[in-house]
Amino acid sequence: MKECWVTEPLHFEMRETEIPEPKDNEVQIKMMAAGVCGSDIHIYKGENPNSRYPLIPGHENVGLVTKVGADCKNIKVGDHVVIDYVIRCGECYQCKHGRGNVCEHVLVRGSGTNGGWREYWCVEEPYVYKIDDSIPWKDAALIEPLTIGEHSTSRAGVCEDDVVFILGTGTIGTIIAQACKLKGAKTVICCDISDSSLERSKQFGADYTVNSKTQDIVAEVQKITNGHGCTVAFDSACFPGSLTMIMQPGIVCNAGRVVPMGFCTVPEKITQQMINGRELTICGTRMSLNQWVPTAQKMAEGKYHMEGLATTFVKFSEIEKVFDNIVHPDPAVKKTVILFDGAED
Ligand SMILES: [Zn+2]
Ligand SMILES: [Zn+2]
Repeated sequence: MKECWVTEPLHFEMRETEIPEPKDNEVQIKMMAAGVCGSDIHIYKGENPNSRYPLIPGHENVGLVTKVGADCKNIKVGDHVVIDYVIRCGECYQCKHGRGNVCEHVLVRGSGTNGGWREYWCVEEPYVYKIDDSIPWKDAALIEPLTIGEHSTSRAGVCEDDVVFILGTGTIGTIIAQACKLKGAKTVICCDISDSSLERSKQFGADYTVNSKTQDIVAEVQKITNGHGCTVAFDSACFPGSLTMIMQPGIVCNAGRVVPMGFCTVPEKITQQMINGRELTICGTRMSLNQWVPTAQKMAEGKYHMEGLATTFVKFSEIEKVFDNIVHPDPAVKKTVILFDGAED
């Protein structure tokens, strides 16, 4: 079988190895599809401080179970599965208080330890979840980013009365828009600097769009919301100054919630007044918690608009195209899914 290794920043190689045998508590999975995420791009460029090298990347992984270890109880040969990449200890304060995604000893497959860009993978059974066979592999690879939308909107407590502002209409921004709509949010306003990206966001749930390059964001939000402002704002753009931008008066209303997404390290210009003058809640969010099964279920029920969410499909045997696109990005490529042999059947 073949594995894809990033040996050091900007270098990858394909290695040939034996198909691994599952231990008693593991299942052997023939990988079928894997998403390429922004964090994979940072890993390849050497911009992810949590990544080790050499590394098999990949945290958006789905596949077909080909063998199960003697102690496995729930997963069976032939099951279609998604793999949880958040390895937690189960013993620490966070794990015991239902916050295992930020376990004190958290280890993340695809950055801190090897991920799923390989043809076969053995994973401990508790981290493997069965998904409905009816979900096409190319869609199943997007369960992971959809869990991010479900988790971040649940951190913010998005519900019916909400008027949501989303900065950034990349994959995560459009996924958050969908998650908000599914939770019944009254209005979703998407903001970006690209008109074509804003236009695209409408098929994923945007009711209104604002171009921050050509329009005054505060004035537009005030107009759309009849002067009330938004109740929740997500910063899925995450660039230096983006959090300050969405926290300026006039975007989020009193008692609103603000959700920073991503890990920009440049200090922002945020004051206590900006938070306490409106008694805002700042909701941190990282990866996801308990979202794999419900998200896969919603996908099987056709609740998500999948068409066009992934823009690009690459065969695992041609994975160099994924790395080429990191070095020479094509703006039309928003989300790539790697397909393994048999994924299109
Ligand atoms: Zn991801
Ligand atoms: Zn823990």
